[in-house]
Amino acid sequence: MTNATDYRQTIGIIGGGQLGKMLAQAAKQRGHQVIILDPTPNCPAAQVSDSQIEAEYDDQNAMKKLAAACDKITYEFENIDKEAAEAILTPEVFPQGLTSLAKNQDRLIEKAEIQSLGLKTVPWEKVTQLNELNEALEKIGYPAVLKTTRFGYDGKGQYVIKAKQDIEKAQELLTSGPCILEGWLDFDYEASLIIGRNPSGDTTLFPIGKNTHVNNILHLSEAGDTSISDAVISEIHQAGEKLAHHLELVGVMGVEFFIKDNQVYVNEIAPRPHNSGHWTIEACPLSQFDIHIKALLNEPLPKRIPLFKPAVLVNILGQHLEGANRLLTQNEYCLWSFHDYGKAEARENRKMGHFTIIGDSLEEIKEAIAATQIWS
Ligand code: ADP
Ligand code: MG
Repeated sequence: MTNATDYRQTIGIIGGGQLGKMLAQAAKQRGHQVIILDPTPNCPAAQVSDSQIEAEYDDQNAMKKLAAACDKITYEFENIDKEAAEAILTPEVFPQGLTSLAKNQDRLIEKAEIQSLGLKTVPWEKVTQLNELNEALEKIGYPAVLKTTRFGYDGKGQYVIKAKQDIEKAQELLTSGPCILEGWLDFDYEASLIIGRNPSGDTTLFPIGKNTHVNNILHLSEAGDTSISDAVISEIHQAGEKLAHHLELVGVMGVEFFIKDNQVYVNEIAPRPHNSGHWTIEACPLSQFDIHIKALLNEPLPKRIPLFKPAVLVNILGQHLEGANRLLTQNEYCLWSFHDYGKAEARENRKMGHFTIIGDSLEEIKEAIAATQIWS
């Protein structure tokens, strides 16, 4: 006989930052036990989980301990240590596997994979030394952006080359390994799609977010923008589906797009929950974190997730924390949903939390954000 609470599982999460925290919260809501692997004592995710294994990500023994204690293991960031992960590599415990991860860890492989599916990217070239950089710039032209192929996030490991005199500074990136030179696209807007997939092949499409970056760091993500054309929406959905099946995605991923003259370019893929999908917690019946957990357990997935109302996510970086704190004492902001990630130390440009704001229109919400003057 089955037990009425058999659905309860023990889920291990590699990485205990804010994505791990929100994953853990979704898992706990659904009745699961959660164990976090992260070297930082009392990391954000551990604050809402059952226990933490305090160890480095390349610690094979720690990984084995996690695998022995869990029914399923997932991760919150793409820079998983391959060798340590191989220690837990049974598809039963680690249904996401490492294949898709390997393709998204390296910007060069990722771009080639995207193009192999017939999807558009900006022009790009592999660059490992100065003469190749010069040759690539001749082909691609200015402006261009040089990026390290690995470990980049929030614009780290990138240098925009506007003219010849920027080459000297940019080439410092080459000392850390192979790079990719991309043509700079003067896009009309940036958008992202959160898509989920389970091992049976069911997929879930979330509403599309329109994103604004400031200093290469996500500032706003808006859901419910009615100006995105149906043709663009359908192309984004098709691209997401193609990528999800090709990568044999398990869980959710965030796909970032540039849109220019209604042409859709794939920028990059994050094989995990994504910052631009945090509004799904309040603005949708199931969040990206819920779908990730359901997919991991191969539960059936809904084809589409509806949006209740227009919603905006605004990130709170270290320099915004004091201002955000002030809003919490004022009546007019008491409907804004505040998330504090629980990080011990606030630093400039470090993501410390976010607000999700639901309203009747995106314009009204953005005006209210601007009026606070915290992000200007
Ligand atoms: P990451 O998010 O890993 O830091 P991205 O490649 O997404 O790296 O770059 C961060 C942001 O920088 C993008 O969201 C976009 O705003 C800008 N950017 C990056 N590459 C290009 C490009 N080729 N053309 C125009 N803008 C770009
Ligand atoms: Mg990005």
